[in-house]
Amino acid sequence: MKPENSDVEAAYAHLHEPHNAAIGQRLNWLRAGVLGANDGIVSVAGVVVGVAAAAPGNVAAIATAGLAALVAGAFSMAGGEYVSVSTQRDTEKALIAKEIRELEEMPEEELAELADLYRQRGLSPELAQQVAVELTAHDALAAHAEVELGIDPEEYTSPWVAAFSSFVAFTIGALLPFLMILIPSGIPMLNTAAAVVLGLVLTGWISARLGGAPILPAVVRNVVMGSATMAATYLIGLAFGVAMA
Ligand SMILES: [Zn+2]
Repeated sequence: MKPENSDVEAAYAHLHEPHNAAIGQRLNWLRAGVLGANDGIVSVAGVVVGVAAAAPGNVAAIATAGLAALVAGAFSMAGGEYVSVSTQRDTEKALIAKEIRELEEMPEEELAELADLYRQRGLSPELAQQVAVELTAHDALAAHAEVELGIDPEEYTSPWVAAFSSFVAFTIGALLPFLMILIPSGIPMLNTAAAVVLGLVLTGWISARLGGAPILPAVVRNVVMGSATMAATYLIGLAFGVAMA
C-alpha cells in the first residue's frame, strides 16, 4: 500500500524538526551565507578588475560589467541552491515514502535490518538487537531515516529560503568590489584590491571559526585564491585592452 502524500509530508517535517539540531542548523546557515558572500566578493572583483584593466577610466563600462556580474551571480547562486535543495527534498520524500511502506508491510524484516545496521556500526549482536527494538518502539521511522537512509536533520529544507539567502549573501559580498571600484578617489583598482583582501580575510576567518578549523591557514588560502582570481582577470584585461587599443 502506498502511503498518503500528507503522511509523507508530515513524516518529512517531523524528521527535520529541530530537536537538539537547532544550533547545528544555525551554523549551517551561517556557513552557507559566508560562502555565498565570499563567492560574490571574488567573482565580481574578478570582473570589475578585468574590465578596469582593459578599459581604464571607463566608468560606464566598469559599472555595467560589475552590475551585470552581481545580478547574474546572485540569480545563478539562488537558482542553483533552489534546484539542489528541491532535488534533495524530493529524494528524501521518496525514500521516506518507501520506508513508511516497508515498516508497515514487513516490520520484522525492518527490525532485523536495523539491528544489522547497528551491528555493522560496531555494537554486539545483543546490544544491536536491544537498540533496534527500543528505537523502533520509540520512533521507527526516525531510526531508519538516520541509520539506513542517512537523512541529516540539520540539512535545511526550504528551497525558497535557501535560494533567497544565497541571493542576499552573494549580493552583500558582490557590493564590496562593485562599490570600491566606482569610488573615484585614489587608484580605484588598488582600493578595490585592498578592500577585497580585507573582505576575504573576514570571510576566511569567520568560516574557519564556524567550522572549528585553524584560522591562519584558512585565511591565507582564502586570500590567495581570491587574489589569484583578481590577478588572472587583471592580466587578461590588460592584454585584451592592449590588443584592442
Ligand atoms: Zn528500513
